[in-house]
Amino acid sequence: MKSSPRAKAALTAGYLAATAALAGALFFVDTRRVVLFPCIFRSITGLDCPGCGMTRAFYCLLHLDFAQAFRYNPFCFVLAPILGVAWAEGLSALLRGRAFRLNHRVAKPLLCALALLLVLFDIGRNIPACPLSYFKV
Ligand SMILES: [Zn+2]
Repeated sequence: MKSSPRAKAALTAGYLAATAALAGALFFVDTRRVVLFPCIFRSITGLDCPGCGMTRAFYCLLHLDFAQAFRYNPFCFVLAPILGVAWAEGLSALLRGRAFRLNHRVAKPLLCALALLLVLFDIGRNIPACPLSYFKV
């Protein structure tokens, strides 16, 4: 993707504005009290999905309440750095005027392992006698 300096500046500004809007929404809207994204899986099954509690966990992360973030969804500590790297890669690609490309050799096994861990975590958190049920939200 080769773009003009003006288009590159507009895309970068949009990227930063979208990031600021999302971070601002997560920071200022108390997602422990307001549901931003209702969980369809939970509303249908009554069970937590792997992402349940993630918005609240990120709210707590942004407010430096790490213990509560861990309680809501411990995978926020895995996803936050991944999202941070992806965000920085996206910004870097925009600034260089190139398309964002995922390094499949690294990303594919990492995402497969993460998906497997999330499924196992979710099964465990929905079994009442399992120690992982501590994370049921
Ligand atoms: Zn859910």
